Amino acid sequence: MLSEGALAPKAVDPEIAALVAEHGNNPEAILAIFETLQSQRGGLAQADICGIARALRIPTAQAYGVATFYSMLAMLPRPGQTLRVCDGPACWLDGAIQVQMALEANLGEGWNIERTSCLGLCDRAPAALVDGHQCGPLTPERVPALQNGWRGEARVYAEPRQGETRVLLAHAGAIDPDSIDSALAHGAYRAFQRMLAQSPETVLTEIESAGLRGRGGAGFPTGRKWRTVAQDDRSLKYVVCNADESEPLVFKDRVLIDTNPHQLLEGMMLAAYAVGACEGFIYIRGEYKAQAARLERAVQQAKAHGWLGERIHGTDFSFHVHLHRGAGAYICGEETALLESLEGRRGEPRTRPPFPATHGYHGQPTVVNNVETFAAIPSIVASGAARYRATGNPSMPGTKLYTLLGHVNRPGLFEAPFGLTLRQVIEEFGGGMRPGSTFHFALTGGAAGTIVPPTLLDLPIDYTSAAKGVALGAGAFLVCDQSVSPVALLRELLHFFASESCGKCTPCRVGTRRAREVLDGLVARQGRTGDIDELRRLADLLQAASFCGLGQSVAIPMRSALAHFGSAFEVPSSAVVVNREEE
Ligand code: SF4
Repeated sequence: MLSEGALAPKAVDPEIAALVAEHGNNPEAILAIFETLQSQRGGLAQADICGIARALRIPTAQAYGVATFYSMLAMLPRPGQTLRVCDGPACWLDGAIQVQMALEANLGEGWNIERTSCLGLCDRAPAALVDGHQCGPLTPERVPALQNGWRGEARVYAEPRQGETRVLLAHAGAIDPDSIDSALAHGAYRAFQRMLAQSPETVLTEIESAGLRGRGGAGFPTGRKWRTVAQDDRSLKYVVCNADESEPLVFKDRVLIDTNPHQLLEGMMLAAYAVGACEGFIYIRGEYKAQAARLERAVQQAKAHGWLGERIHGTDFSFHVHLHRGAGAYICGEETALLESLEGRRGEPRTRPPFPATHGYHGQPTVVNNVETFAAIPSIVASGAARYRATGNPSMPGTKLYTLLGHVNRPGLFEAPFGLTLRQVIEEFGGGMRPGSTFHFALTGGAAGTIVPPTLLDLPIDYTSAAKGVALGAGAFLVCDQSVSPVALLRELLHFFASESCGKCTPCRVGTRRAREVLDGLVARQGRTGDIDELRRLADLLQAASFCGLGQSVAIPMRSALAHFGSAFEVPSSAVVVNREEE
């Protein structure tokens, strides 16, 4: 029988109670509460998680479920500094394994060295986070400097490459991203101000006429999504910016935030005005701490200048923007998983339909677009749909940011219209293959993209080209020369997917791990007869039976690699030049 004392509610640690109160006792702030507590205590002890659950009045199981879901949260104390070394495909290609080995050999006590999935710092590969601070490119020789505080510099994209068409990056380098006065001097909020004097329908029609398609990878028409939200009778509507950019090889949203955060805010404001929303959220990945701080500054400045808040510039329109940091989970880039995380739960995807446009944040109509999509809005509204349609490719208007990595002379980021071929990307924007390198294959679109052989170098790439074998996805290209085996690269991709599968459904949770095991064997030259058939079966299973797009899309690189480079998978596996040590 339970004693009376066992039934009495346990007191909450006063420090925890104060921390939770600072966040308005709001369960949706659980990630921020965990992050603060972890930074104060070195980790999340079980008693602390229970205390937070009690203070937030949520089930302990829910708090525990959140604490164990996100990779940046640690259940065990991590005394000293934490160094998270990226093992995404770009870092892997640039020697992250050697860097990690050098770090482990040379950094003594006081350092916790961990691996992490892609940090979105591919243009600083091999990259790392040092206590949350972005760092790179790391080399074994730079380990002593790292101990002395060296962190490297972010790359700046102020100078366009020859052939670029700059719209999103029009003011890159000219605007001080931390100064609203500088942004205002370059036209920030002018389009929004002009639209405040016109009807929301005017904005909506302009975006529909422009033919803008969402830049998250699927290319869904933005105007159609906004129209659905605008037409909904319910009065509570939301705008959510997906800044969770976690797709390996993709870092364009980071650059956009670092270049011109007010452009993104203005795009959200125009969306809110068009659909009748009064509240917005920016969900930014936890690894983008510096960019979150930059956005928070921009939000405060916009508030101070009357561009955000109640009755903006004397109109009836009110709009508030809140920043929400993730804590390390690739799946939170999937819009329904993002909404779950925003509402303070594990970032596990919801069943779709219904879609967020009708049942989004707290079940209300919600526009969810990514950073690049919102950043495109102000220039469309400022210049008009007709001018936007005249930019670039008539069948797919506007410009796109592309990230280019691997064995080209000039890797990095550039802006151009749709319809480029891989050959153009490499030759015209990348300065050609590096000396001594011959094109072998490219991974296009991102980790869930296509592995492309030389025969497809001249196919124009846009949102329709995936069906012909070259995915656009988020606009990423990893170009590999003869030193890289497609088997080894595919193993890296499966290592990523197996690490980032949220675990909700069995086909993905088990299928990605099994595929990785098969590829581990092939890379170690311990392949067995039947491996190729098993990989094909796993690809079919992943696509057919996975709950969400993460698991379903793993089949894309698997099938394209097997279709174009099947002989490389034959036993014993050949030409595994770039390889990784076993974890
Ligand atoms: Fe989670 Fe993968 Fe299933 Fe998506 S497919 S719900 S990521 S386990």
